[in-house]
Amino acid sequence: MSKVAWDYIVPVVLPKDLKGIEPGKLPAHLLRPIEAGGKMHWLAAAAYNAMDEAAKAEGVELKPTSAGDTYRSYESQLAGFKQRYQLEPVVGTSTKTFEGKTWYLKKGMAMLATPGKSQHNLGLAVDIANASEPKRLNWMIANVKKFGFSWEVVPSEPWHLRYVNGDTPPPAVAEWMAKNNWEKPAGSAAPAAGGGNDIAKLQEALKIKGFYKGEINGQKDAATDAAVKAFKVANKLTADSVAGPKVKELLGL
Ligand SMILES: [Zn+2]
Repeated sequence: MSKVAWDYIVPVVLPKDLKGIEPGKLPAHLLRPIEAGGKMHWLAAAAYNAMDEAAKAEGVELKPTSAGDTYRSYESQLAGFKQRYQLEPVVGTSTKTFEGKTWYLKKGMAMLATPGKSQHNLGLAVDIANASEPKRLNWMIANVKKFGFSWEVVPSEPWHLRYVNGDTPPPAVAEWMAKNNWEKPAGSAAPAAGGGNDIAKLQEALKIKGFYKGEINGQKDAATDAAVKAFKVANKLTADSVAGPKVKELLGL
């Protein structure tokens, strides 16, 4: 596996509807089931399901290590934490600070984030079963980025993926959302996801190519027109803002 792929670790962009929500206490309407068990934030769930479908089509099975390794409530993170860490000092293990106290990792246990600090508590992380199996790992290295996922700690946690794209799902996910009528939840304050309409897709594609710097708002406004025109000029096409078949072809739309 290439070093470049493993270096693909990017920070999480938080979906707008998670702002102000306490980790581990997501309202039910923001969570959706994912293929093979468990729940994630609705945008992360779409990204996971799209990735799962693509993997399956190429003969690779993805599933979470358990339903508890998708979205984790505060209570379940706390229970897991207390199973693995203790207050009595243990010589030679790592420690975490929680509720103002130092906790020691029990011998033979794997590390776990303190309650409220894991991206599992935001519904954005999922642990993939048997992630280090070479065929699966190679598929993941080649594809996670396309579906808006990135690792957090490599190479020690090849199973732990987080959805990092915030309110702008990558084209492969936006397409899956449109096909599966994956609407934003009624109670969500988030703007329509990138897959909302053709203009949003156009903006997204122009943004990836570096021609569009504005928000993905699904409106063919002056900034969008200017980006289309600049893109056409760069590709030696008629210098106007009409996004015709040639433009769409070049943008992969
Ligand atoms: Zn994890």
